[in-house]
Amino acid sequence: MKPSLIVHGGAGNIPDSALEESQRGIRQALESGWAVLSQDGSALDAVEAAILSLEDNPSFDAGVGSYLNRDGRVQLDAILMDGATLKAGAVAAVERIRNPISLARLVLEKSDHMMLVGAGAEQFAVENGLPLCEPEDLITDRARAAWERLLEVSLATQNRESRSNGTVGAVALDSNGQLAAGTSTGGTNCKFPGRVGDSPLVGCGCYADAEAGGVSCTGYGEGIMKIVMAKMAVDLLRDPRAMTAHRKKAGSATIAQAVADACVRILARRAQAAGGLILLDCEGRAAAAFTTPHMAYGFVKSDGSFQIAS
Ligand code: ASP
Repeated sequence: MKPSLIVHGGAGNIPDSALEESQRGIRQALESGWAVLSQDGSALDAVEAAILSLEDNPSFDAGVGSYLNRDGRVQLDAILMDGATLKAGAVAAVERIRNPISLARLVLEKSDHMMLVGAGAEQFAVENGLPLCEPEDLITDRARAAWERLLEVSLATQNRESRSNGTVGAVALDSNGQLAAGTSTGGTNCKFPGRVGDSPLVGCGCYADAEAGGVSCTGYGEGIMKIVMAKMAVDLLRDPRAMTAHRKKAGSATIAQAVADACVRILARRAQAAGGLILLDCEGRAAAAFTTPHMAYGFVKSDGSFQIAS
């Protein structure tokens, strides 16, 4: 089977001056994930590799460079889901993990549980050989400045409009037909301590089922959770015939694209929220949609070249 890969760097208001940097990050993530897939590596390895690259890039709201919460601390959420078994590994509100996607992978593979949070998740990391970092290691000057600006105006609602850097995600299909999806985030700027959004929740920020497709979402988490957007997308992919009429009506190029378009429309209409998603159907057809001014994303075209947009 021909492998396929799509990644995103978050839906938001990326300023023009930062667009190039975001696209560069997307390209690097595609290179990391594609290096795995093109050598017959697994979809899980490819998603982890792509997200590791984005977590290590301080331009994105994941790993180093994530937004600070109201108390000036970084709390990270991540999920990795295996489309073959429907098992996920997720972590939330971790403060001393440099790469939460790798901890999510450990939960996926080494725990009977699907999600671990806070101190318990960090204890699981230590017990499984993943080193802890200092909480300060995750904070960049840019993230602290964004936090100080938002604290000054003290408008929690600003989270919905003033987002620039973003949550990250990836979906991969490997040469064995296995599908995986993952999402990693620092959440919203100035969030209440302990707040967890859609990103690490199965079906909300991420879902993968090898029989239908894989999805990673981004945007206003409290809205995405209302419509369980990732699972909604996969369920729509399950029934391509039902989507044919929608595709024609909306003028979407493919069924996969019609599904992505339908999800962001429903997010706006039913949850009054902005956001976006990337997906691959079970044959590797890629689609992306967003209602924010930008969402940096990229996928590998059938000729092996990278398509990058924002
Ligand atoms: N969905 C993320 C959250 O609500 C934020 C984002 O994607 O920008 O935590």
